[in-house]
Amino acid sequence: MQHLKITKVELFKVPPRWLFLKLTTADGTVGWGEPVVEGRADTVEACIKELETHIIGHPANKIEDFWQMIFRGGFYRGGPVLMSALSGIDQAMWDIKGKSLGVPVYELLGGSVRDKVRIYGWVNAETPEELAEATRKRMADGFTAVKFNAVEKMEWIDSLSKVKQAAAKMAAIREAGGDDLLIGVDLHGRVHKGQAKAIAKALEPYHPFFLEELVLAENNEALKSLHDYTSTPIATGERMFSRWDFKRILQEGSVDILQPDLSHAGGITEVKKIATMAEAYDVAIAPHCPLGPISLAAALQIDFNCYNAIIQETSLGIHYNVGTDLVDYLKDPDGFGLRDGHVSLMTKPGLGIEIDEEKVREAAKIGHSWKNPIWRNPDGAVAEW
Ligand SMILES: [Mg+2]
Repeated sequence: MQHLKITKVELFKVPPRWLFLKLTTADGTVGWGEPVVEGRADTVEACIKELETHIIGHPANKIEDFWQMIFRGGFYRGGPVLMSALSGIDQAMWDIKGKSLGVPVYELLGGSVRDKVRIYGWVNAETPEELAEATRKRMADGFTAVKFNAVEKMEWIDSLSKVKQAAAKMAAIREAGGDDLLIGVDLHGRVHKGQAKAIAKALEPYHPFFLEELVLAENNEALKSLHDYTSTPIATGERMFSRWDFKRILQEGSVDILQPDLSHAGGITEVKKIATMAEAYDVAIAPHCPLGPISLAAALQIDFNCYNAIIQETSLGIHYNVGTDLVDYLKDPDGFGLRDGHVSLMTKPGLGIEIDEEKVREAAKIGHSWKNPIWRNPDGAVAEW
């Protein structure tokens, strides 16, 4: 496949906090990827540039071979930077392969198993009353699932009032949404093992859809006792990179929903494998995606193909997207066809979206320097963000 040899690698750092990759082949086929880890766009950009000698000249259809070459061939592997770089290249290669054959990526993975994918809407507010209002608004827009952050910054073991505030928020959303609403709870790794059971117990009466990152991924051995303690499904995975990071929690039976990120966990190639591993343990996947349109398109291709994909996150209207939103770099602002809280089966070839390259080039002149805030507790010690 000489015509699919990659001849050009271009990177575009665009607001609000994304990095886009464009690969071009000898015959002019173009593929887009999103190789970025939030707050480290320049680092991943440098990584891609370092990999450029491996990318140029590689046939874009030989995706598995490229993945193995980069993962195994560099001796050192894994982690957010290397895996996010590999993820973005992988997405762009799948985009090229799909376009060269004239089919969506899910067709190359075995075809679609569903007609539409449920997505959830973020609800973020300070008070229970505001959260209830935000929930009603999301539901009026057709959403059947929402997610919220139950706690702000936490001390190692924090006060009863922090636990009660989390429960009050959850209660307000449940009351506003009723029993049919799915309510995901993100703890963002802010709670330590010592208080995780108290949080889980306080929220349990309101039947969360899942508890996400109840502890940090590096403390995942704590999940087993938490999983056995609460009836709420346990979810984690946005800070885990490759199937080797996921295998232990599957073996230990300590998780119900895996949340690999298509831009961090190794791209479409790897998340398909993670999903298949999870299915064998009766575990669902709900791909993490607070990033841009290319990352979301890659996640949706997985959702359409993987039987155990139950819901998709998007950054639509997310608080990070200041001044720019998910669809702003698409030629068709209705590119994801979001209706009633679902994305319908995408039918265009490759990743299924059309990037407005002119807009991307203009936005890259502005760039960004997004960093997450550094939080500190009252005693001055750093808190988990
Ligand atoms: Mg999260």
